[in-house]
Amino acid sequence: MRVLVTGGAGFIGSHYVRKVLGGAYDTLADAQVVVLDKLTYAGCESNLESVRDNPRLRFVRGDICDREVVRDLMSGTDLVVHFAAESHVDRSIMGAADFVMTNVVGTQTLLQAAVDAGVRRFVHISTDEVYGSITEGSWTEDHVLEPNSPYAASKAGAELMARSFHRTHGLAVCVTRCSNNYGPHQFPEKVIPLFVTNLLDGRKVPLYGDGLNVRDWLHVDDHCWGIQLVADSGRPGEIYNIGGGTELTNRELTERLLAAFGVDESMVERVPDRKAHDRRYSVDITKISTELGYRPLVSFEEGLASTIAWYRENRDWWEQLVDRAKLPGS
Ligand code: NAD
Repeated sequence: MRVLVTGGAGFIGSHYVRKVLGGAYDTLADAQVVVLDKLTYAGCESNLESVRDNPRLRFVRGDICDREVVRDLMSGTDLVVHFAAESHVDRSIMGAADFVMTNVVGTQTLLQAAVDAGVRRFVHISTDEVYGSITEGSWTEDHVLEPNSPYAASKAGAELMARSFHRTHGLAVCVTRCSNNYGPHQFPEKVIPLFVTNLLDGRKVPLYGDGLNVRDWLHVDDHCWGIQLVADSGRPGEIYNIGGGTELTNRELTERLLAAFGVDESMVERVPDRKAHDRRYSVDITKISTELGYRPLVSFEEGLASTIAWYRENRDWWEQLVDRAKLPGS
């Protein structure tokens, strides 16, 4: 069994690779894992440090848009788990070209190579942001796509490519749409690691707008487990929401982080809101729960505490990334 993991040096992809090689998923107990990652500003080879010497791992630095590289790696692959993406909404607002190239063209390149190589299964990792924003209730998988940021639009485009390759070529693709992840190794441009690393350095945390945007926080371990359930038993051509973490306003999240550091509101700096900032995300996880037996296992309290502890203990990891995490021009 050979698994090709794209974006395996990023936050979620590297967690998945460490879990696979650590024996967490029975069906991949003996699998060979090939990671294809371009090592953009967001990719860190050090995320795979703990499994670097594992003989079942092969790391390839390369671009998912590179047809030759992708074709070579796809040959002999049984399962593709496709994480690679430009993933930061703020960067997509500043310029969307890389998002369209990697997220749409890169995905199409992988899908075509997977068809040509006769790959048995392809899991495309998408996001709940493709749905847009919801005031009340939760999205089921058949909800209309109304992406609001260029990031979300590029992910929606990628998904539609995946759907078309299933319909047209019979490729056994499943799509997962997950809510906001948190956990160790998350690049310090995203809100939880940004706030945690700022607080560890005694710096203020920048809170967007009125702070009332709601996100559903899921530990990365639960996301990866949901992905594996889909890889094992998801129905080809189907979409599965993954979520069911903890819904919090950004203000509530900030309060929990301030409390964990024993500091008060004076550590919050209000900053102008993000353009077209989605108000609330909420996915209905009935489908993956009933079909595949998924439910989140990590409580937010436990997950947040262990995540803060990880950043506290791994200053070497994030300190070298803080400059890379700054937005161009800031
Ligand atoms: P990340 O930014 O931490 O990692 C992305 C990885 O992809 C990096 O290692 C980067 O080097 C690599 N990459 C980027 N462009 C590439 C290219 N052209 N070729 C090869 N590799 C390339 O992202 P993440 O947070 O780990 O997200 C992984 C996936 O999960 C993405 O598809 C994202 O849309 C999706 N997702 C993320 C979240 C979240 O909360 N982080 C939630 C739902 C879905």
